[in-house]
Amino acid sequence: MIRRAPGRVIVESEVAGGSLVASLRANLPHAVFETVDRVSEQPCRDPGVLEVVRFRGRFLKSCPGTRHYHCCGYRILHFGTQCTLECSYCILQAYLNQPNLRLFGNIDDMLGELSADLEENSGRLHRIGTGEFTDSMLLDPYTGLSRLLVPFFAKTPNAVLELKTKTDFIGNLDGLEHNGHTIAAWSLNAEHVRRREEPFAATLKERLNAARFCAERGYYLAFHFDPIIEHPDWRSGYGEVLDRLFDAVDPSRIVWMSLGAFRFMPELKSIIQEHHGRSRIPYGEFIRGLDGKMRYFRDIRVEFYSFMINKIRRADPHLCAYLCMEGDDIWLESFGFSPRERGGLDRMLDHAVRDRMHIDITAPETQPFV
Ligand code: SF4
Repeated sequence: MIRRAPGRVIVESEVAGGSLVASLRANLPHAVFETVDRVSEQPCRDPGVLEVVRFRGRFLKSCPGTRHYHCCGYRILHFGTQCTLECSYCILQAYLNQPNLRLFGNIDDMLGELSADLEENSGRLHRIGTGEFTDSMLLDPYTGLSRLLVPFFAKTPNAVLELKTKTDFIGNLDGLEHNGHTIAAWSLNAEHVRRREEPFAATLKERLNAARFCAERGYYLAFHFDPIIEHPDWRSGYGEVLDRLFDAVDPSRIVWMSLGAFRFMPELKSIIQEHHGRSRIPYGEFIRGLDGKMRYFRDIRVEFYSFMINKIRRADPHLCAYLCMEGDDIWLESFGFSPRERGGLDRMLDHAVRDRMHIDITAPETQPFV
């Protein structure tokens, strides 16, 4: 996979002396750095620009689930926004009103908020990920952020970190003290979809090699088939990816796998048509769901999920697979049960952490809190 390093870094003066900017300066020797009082909020897209700002909001957010569908109770550690991998279906195109790569330079504030939150809520397990408003690892070769976060979570008895990516930029994970508290995760798609809709992401082979690299270093793994996209012969496309995945890694290292059929806010359609002329995905048949998003008809969603879960269960009947943003009827028809019967989706995922990662916060904890 080719790295597209930022060529221009615009830094707010309040964070110019911080450790994040120091890493960027060391790892982007050819980039031009500019310091400004405040980064402009005027949208002017330039994929070669990286902005480093002082973030003034909450770094920890809840996953934007809706009351209509089962929600996973995941939380997001918000360290930056936007992504230059340019997947045609990327929701960030419609979601964020500032178009350039942006990182939050006040990392000490982020870690302080995280520590305080975990300590305050020490009686429960926290599943925390970073890949919601950007790709978790896209800029890691330059920021080295994983080298801070992974050891941080290694010392937190009641939390696990999921780093979700479509890159193979996992070099910084080598040799880190992770204590089994970090999950290296990849979004996967059928080869036909990957080629057409994910032009700058790593190939399937590169992603699976990266996953194997992490598994060999003791990391737990997760995989996300989201968005599943209808295309000719989708069964053999997705079936092949699952076969290659289970050939590449031991299923018992996989903590969870999610499945989610393509869904989108209606305004995304014209953005895809305008910016991704090769994409076929806006031309599928969709209906509006309870959350206002456009979705495939329920029969096709049930077909996707039934096909995938049957293959997953053949590889590992105990692997925790779950549906993203679906209701009881689709769960029952494709998986044969509803999360409600198992205490809710968040409990299912907590149990996966306990069973696969052997982290049980009800057990006496000997480690000190950070
Ligand atoms: S990798 Fe994720 S965040 Fe980046 S463009 Fe693709 S969908 Fe968007």
